[in-house]
Amino acid sequence: FDFAEPKNEPVLGYAPGSAERKALQHALAEMKATKRDIPMYIDGEEVRSDNKVEIRPPHETAHLLGHFHMSSEEHVHDAIDAALDAREKWAAMNWEHRASIFLKAADLLATKYRYRMNAATMLGQSKNAYQAEIDSACELIDFLRFNVHFLSKIYKDQPISPAGMNNRMEYRPLEGFVLAVTPFNFTAIGGNLPTSAAMCGNVVVWKPANTQVYSASVFMEILIEAGLPAGVINLIYPPGPMVGEICYAHPYFAGVHFTGSTGVFQSMWKSIGNNISRYRSYPRIVGETGGKDFVFVHPSANVDAVVAGLARGAFEFQGQKCSAASRAYLPANLAEEIKKKLVAELATMKMGPVDDFTNFVNAVIDEKAFKSITKYIDGVKNGNGDAKILCGGNYDSKKGWFIEPTVIETTDPSYVTMCEEIFGPVLTIYTYEADMWIQTLEVLDSTSPYALTGAIFAQDRYAIEYMTKALVNSAGNFYINDKPTGAVVGQQPFGGARASGTNDKAGSILNLYRWLSARTIKETY
Ligand code: GLU
Repeated sequence: FDFAEPKNEPVLGYAPGSAERKALQHALAEMKATKRDIPMYIDGEEVRSDNKVEIRPPHETAHLLGHFHMSSEEHVHDAIDAALDAREKWAAMNWEHRASIFLKAADLLATKYRYRMNAATMLGQSKNAYQAEIDSACELIDFLRFNVHFLSKIYKDQPISPAGMNNRMEYRPLEGFVLAVTPFNFTAIGGNLPTSAAMCGNVVVWKPANTQVYSASVFMEILIEAGLPAGVINLIYPPGPMVGEICYAHPYFAGVHFTGSTGVFQSMWKSIGNNISRYRSYPRIVGETGGKDFVFVHPSANVDAVVAGLARGAFEFQGQKCSAASRAYLPANLAEEIKKKLVAELATMKMGPVDDFTNFVNAVIDEKAFKSITKYIDGVKNGNGDAKILCGGNYDSKKGWFIEPTVIETTDPSYVTMCEEIFGPVLTIYTYEADMWIQTLEVLDSTSPYALTGAIFAQDRYAIEYMTKALVNSAGNFYINDKPTGAVVGQQPFGGARASGTNDKAGSILNLYRWLSARTIKETY
C-alpha cells in the first residue's frame, strides 16, 4: 500500500487580532489555570508514583503548572515488559492500519489540538508562539506524515526475480524493544524519535527529558486518542542513568534513538559495548548530539543577509538548538558594518515571558542551563582570555531564567566560546584578514569536534564552490546564504557526523532503515 508524498504543514502567522492568535491565547490561559497531574503511560494505563516532581514555566518560575510522576526501577521494568508483550501483535499488524494511527495523530495535531500542543511547548519550554508553531505543530505533523510516506516507499522496494524464482524482502521490525531518549528543545524531536521506530513495527520505551515531560505528555494523549494500542509506546520518567542501566542490560534491547549531549551518548555506547554478549541482536545506536555551528562570511557577502542570518540563527529560541549559529568568521572589509547592524538588530528584540507575543527572546530552560551559560559570559567579563562583550551580557533570574542575547568578540579563533557548545543565546565573532579566507576555513574546520550545521555567505560563485568543497566534512547540514537553523522535514533532512552524531538524518528515509531488519526470501518454482 503506497502513501503519497504529503505537503508540508502550512505555518500559521499568529498576526495580532487573528483568529489563530485568539485560539492560542485561550489555550495558554486554560493550561495555565489547570494544574496538570501527569502520569506515566505503561501498557496503555495511566500510572502514578508517590514521587511527584513540580513543573514551572522557565520564564515564570513562581507559577506552578503541575506535576509529573517520577518513575522507579520497577516502572522501567514494567515499561519494557509491556513493550515486549505488545510486540508480536503490533509487528503483525497490516502496515496501512499502523500508518493510519500516525496519520490520524497528525490530523488531530493539525486541527483539534494544535493550540493546546503549542501552548504546552510555550509554557513548558519557554518558546515563543512562532517557534512553537514551527516545532510542535508543523515539524511534528511533517515528521508523522513524511515518515509514513518514506516507509511505504521502503516496503515497496523489492529485489528482482529472474525466471523460475520469486525473491522478496520482508522488512521486519527489530527483535526487541527500542529506547527513545528525547531532549527538551524540540517537541517535534520528542514526538519523532518514538514514533519513527514504532511506525516500523517496533515497540518503544520513551524517556523524555524532565523539562519536556509537560509537552511530551500532551502528544502521548493525542497518540492514544488516535488509536495507538496499549504497550506500543510506553512513556516513563526515570532518572537517565537508571533507565540506561536497566535497558542496556536487557537481552531484548534492540536499539536506542537519542537526541541529547555528546557525553551522554558516548557513555551509552560504552554501556552497550560492555553488555554486547547479552543481546539477542546487535543494537542499533542512532544519535544526534550537538554542535558548534559556524557562519563563515566571505569578503563578497551581502551584509544584510549576514545580519539577518546571525540574528535569527544564533538567537531564536535563545540559541537552544543543536543547529544554532554560535561562532562567526567575519572578513575585515565587512566586519564593522556587520557588527554595527547586528547590534542594532539585537536591540530591537524584546525579552520576556511567552504570553506577550512581542517578546522574541524568552527564558533558557532551567537553572542548570542558566548557570552553565552565564559562566561563559562571566569568563569574558572577568577578562579570562582575549575576548570582550560586544553587546548583551546581562542576565536576571528573579522571575525566570533570562539571559540577554550576547555577542562576544575575540581575536583568538581557539577562544573557549569559539570551540565549546554553549547551548544558549551566545554568539562569538572572530574577524580575519580578507585575503586570508582560505586559511581561515582550515582554522574553522580544526577548532571544533562537531560537524552538525554551518552556513557560508558569499556572492562570488567561485568562492561558494571552493568553500562548499573545502568544508565537505564540517557540517551535515550546509547552508549557502541562509541561517544554519530551521531544517524542514522533506526539504532538508537533518543530522551531522563527527561529535554531532551518527548522521542518520531525522525526517528522511535513511533514518527509517535503522529501525528495520529485513529478511530476504528466495522461493524456487
Ligand atoms: N532541526 C533543528 C533545526 O534545523 C535543530 C534540531 C536540534 O536542535 O536538535 O534547527
